[in-house]
Formats: sequence, C-alpha cells, structure tokens
Amino acid sequence: MKIGITGGMGSGKTTVCSIFESMGVPVYYADVMAKKILISNKEVKMKIKILLGEKAYYKNGRPDRTFIASKVFTDKRLLESLNAIVHPAVHHDFENFYIAHKDKAPYILNEAALLVENGSFKRFEKLIVVTCPEKIRIQRIQKRDKTTIEVIQKRLQNQLPEEEKIKHADFIVNNSGEKALIPQIWEIHQKLIK
Ligand code: ATP
Repeated sequence: MKIGITGGMGSGKTTVCSIFESMGVPVYYADVMAKKILISNKEVKMKIKILLGEKAYYKNGRPDRTFIASKVFTDKRLLESLNAIVHPAVHHDFENFYIAHKDKAPYILNEAALLVENGSFKRFEKLIVVTCPEKIRIQRIQKRDKTTIEVIQKRLQNQLPEEEKIKHADFIVNNSGEKALIPQIWEIHQKLIK
C-alpha cells in the first residue's frame, strides 16, 4: 500500500515519520526529494530555464530559490506551470522508490506538506494527517528555524487550515503534546499491517 502522510507546517510530520521508520516502514520525503530533483534532474532543469529564464539557476547548477519564488509568487499560472514540471518528476521518483521497497514492507509512506492542497492525496490508498494547534506549531518552528513569526505566517498562507486536511484523513496523529506519539503510531501501524 502507498500511504500519504501530511500536516500543517511544523505539525511534526518528520518527527512522526522517523518513528514509522524506526518500525521498519520506508518513508519517501517528497519535499526533500523535490529539492534534490531541482538540482539533479537535467530535464527538469531545462524546462524550468525555459519557463523562468536562465536566471532560475546559478552558474554552479543550483537553483536560485529566491528568484524562482519571486517569479511564481505573484503569478498563479507560472506557479502551476512550475508544479507541472516538478510534480510529475517527483511522482516518477516516488514510483521508483516504491518499486525498490515494496517487497520489503507492508506499506510505504509518502510525506509531503501539501498533499491535500494539490489534490495528490488521492493517489494514496490511505491518508495520515498529523495535527497540532497553529500556536504550538509556530512556537516549534521558531525554535527549530530561528526565524520570525512574520516569515512563518507568510509560509502558512500557502496551506489549508488543519480542519480541511482532517476531512480527508483516514488516520489522525495528535501531536499537540497532550498524547504520547508512539502508542498512536503503533495503533495506526497495526491497522495498516492488517
Ligand atoms: P515542516 O512542515 O517544516 O516540514 P514538520 O511537520 O516535518 O515540519 P517537524 O520538523 O517534525 O515538523 O517538527 C517541527 C519541530 O517541532 C521540530 O523541531 C521538532 O523537533 C519539534 N517537535 C515535533 N513534535 C514535537 C513534540 N511532540 N513535542 C515537542 N517538540 C516537537
């Protein structure tokens, strides 16, 4: 089975996934891989340069994220075109990951922040949503990233509220700190391996 796992920024997706990994579940970190694909996939690079111009990449081959963000931030159609280049490449990479791991595990997790926002949660048999009140998420991100509330709030604007994500959830992990994580994850794991 392919299982999607998502949640708002700083909800604890990576933390929860690392617990699944410690139980032997393979996890594909889609957002991390997307960043790598932007650097390593020649076709993706070429298409992005055609879409946004040569300035989208530095001479050393690394993407100029500030330039790319400034281009797509105010232009919804450009953002859609960029996603239409990057998303299929990430999906293809995940399929390879899935093929490589599927015989070793009962299910594979795909972790990404915007699975509900971009509709790709529908590709998965089940969806896990990690929840945590926004106030606590902001505090945790501030501590982790040493950044300002303004920067965090700007990033939060791209995300749907938690209630919207929960509507599509088959399983919810409450990471507010009120409930221990391991028993919740163990219960989901037991259901999934059945
Ligand atoms: P992002 O959306 O930025 O990728 P994320 O959803 O993957 O974030 P994590 O990086 O797992 O979230 O967690 C955010 C921060 O909160 C991390 O510094 C993590 O160590 C911390 N954290 C996660 N869960 C808890 C918890 N239950 N109690 C205290 N701190 C926590």
